[in-house]
Amino acid sequence: MTEQNSPANSDAPPQSTTDSAPDPLALHRRAILIDMHADTVQRVVDEGADINARLADGHLDAVRAREGGLDAQFFSIWVEPEYFGAGGSRAVERADAQIAAVRALAEERPDIWRQAGSAADIRRIAGEGKIATLMGLEGGYAIDERIENVEKYFRLGVRYLSAAWTVSLPWAGSSGDEVGATRGLNDFGRRVVREMNRLGMMVDVSHVSDKTFWDIVETSAKPVIATHSGARAIVDHPRNLTDEQIVALAGTGGACCVVFYPAFVEPGWKEAQKKVDAEINDALDEVARLAPGSPSQKKLARDRARAAEYARRMPPTSAARVCDHIDRVVRLAGVGHVGIGSDFDGIQATPRDLASVADYPNLTRELLRRGYTESDVENILGGNILRVMEQTQGD
Ligand SMILES: [Zn+2]
Repeated sequence: MTEQNSPANSDAPPQSTTDSAPDPLALHRRAILIDMHADTVQRVVDEGADINARLADGHLDAVRAREGGLDAQFFSIWVEPEYFGAGGSRAVERADAQIAAVRALAEERPDIWRQAGSAADIRRIAGEGKIATLMGLEGGYAIDERIENVEKYFRLGVRYLSAAWTVSLPWAGSSGDEVGATRGLNDFGRRVVREMNRLGMMVDVSHVSDKTFWDIVETSAKPVIATHSGARAIVDHPRNLTDEQIVALAGTGGACCVVFYPAFVEPGWKEAQKKVDAEINDALDEVARLAPGSPSQKKLARDRARAAEYARRMPPTSAARVCDHIDRVVRLAGVGHVGIGSDFDGIQATPRDLASVADYPNLTRELLRRGYTESDVENILGGNILRVMEQTQGD
């Protein structure tokens, strides 16, 4: 019998640092951080924003993403029904323009971005020190009620689809309008979900009505995710998930990715927002009227003016509040069913210490402060989504 006298086999006390507090920044750098939802690509298309360089405004660019340790970004392909129709060729064109803009990031600057389509891609790209770009279709308007378009978008790189944004479709109800209260999936909607399952596209329930949520959970044979929602038990908003819904998502193997928008995470915020909105809406209408350009550009100008007013007038919120929602999901469903879905560049206010992608380390600090282990934090930041992608795509 040979006895190897390596330090590991000696009786000396281990030299590991497991007893000392983990270094938040080292853990944050090591973890694969995946954000499930940002609206930045509309800035790229409508304003020509160059997100390869540091931007003075907004929430996301490559420089700040690197500072914040962001490894993979799902860009939302968002078709606003008001301007582009809730279906039809204009919605398709609008989605296609945004997809082209996301794909151009990696094509033009492969030193910064790489297009990813799978969990394996994300792991490889993160290992290379690049930022993985992915896409999710926010609202099924651009499907244009043709089932073959689901595969078209999958082939272009779209890896999740939420059936509806704030306007219901004939085949799926939204949480944002009255018809959604009684509308779930119809037969076409169920076909869309089954087609996504077949292709390996994740099914997203953020924005859908409660009825649609339950129809999706019943129909999908693969994990179901909420890409940017909070817990309704903390903030009672139809965009957030009830405790029962969170448990049901976990039951599919999916995850609830917690959003940063104060209206969904901070109790009392949306009531204060209503009051402030009543005071500023006329001025914002004027900003939009005077802004040059297309309806989308006017909307961006309006959103920016609103963000400035909110920064002055609204009560502050923090990463701790976002973590309250993470805690809620973990208590209900376990630490394996939660993720991050900032909604950066789609929201007109942020937590003060999560003001852009550069601030992501603050989230890791707060999670560690709350007693999550290093492996818990790695799973919350991205590990859980890698697992969901593997289960969805079978890679
Ligand atoms: Zn959204």
